[in-house]
Amino acid sequence: MSFRRAYVALGSNLGDSQRYVQQAMEALARLEHTQLLARSSLYRTEAWGVTDQPPFVNAAVALQTRLAPHALLDAMLAIERAAGRVRDGTRWGPRTLDLDLLHVDGVQLADERLTLPHPRIAERAFVLLPLHDIAPELFLSGQGRVAELLARVDPAGCERLP
Ligand code: ATP
Ligand code: CA
Ligand code: CA
Repeated sequence: MSFRRAYVALGSNLGDSQRYVQQAMEALARLEHTQLLARSSLYRTEAWGVTDQPPFVNAAVALQTRLAPHALLDAMLAIERAAGRVRDGTRWGPRTLDLDLLHVDGVQLADERLTLPHPRIAERAFVLLPLHDIAPELFLSGQGRVAELLARVDPAGCERLP
């Protein structure tokens, strides 16, 4: 398989979240057949969906990878587990590390394990702000161009970290 560009969202709101996010960026950069192309700033964001939990640290990275999308997802889930992520079935609850595969160039799919592009990007300022740092012109099929999607969400509660 040839190299493809992929975009990953990172989030954490348990423990030393900045460290979990930074270490996850390094772990993604070390994946086989994969190079880290760009990393966004880190953002501090109010919890979304289930709002009575600590704020998140969010970021995004661009990768170039020869891993197939499901293999990349498996590697991302392994990095989450290594960071102590526990899945107890609570949707959108607190976590040490969440890695979502946002987009893989030229890939649109939906099966029981993976939907691409990630279906909830357009409604999330905490994803669009960091993604805009590294890919403002990216077009997400079914949703739109990142810069235009960002202009339509409310960035209140999201702050760029120094
Ligand atoms: P959300 O997807 O709304 O951000 P979440 O990140 O809290 O929610 P998780 O509990 O981390 O959800 O993931 C549940 C499952 O979602 C994963 O086990 C994975 O199989 C599936 N999934 C489907 N599409 C994707 C994707 N694009 N990126 C990551 N996981 C995905
Ligand atoms: Ca998520
Ligand atoms: Ca996830």
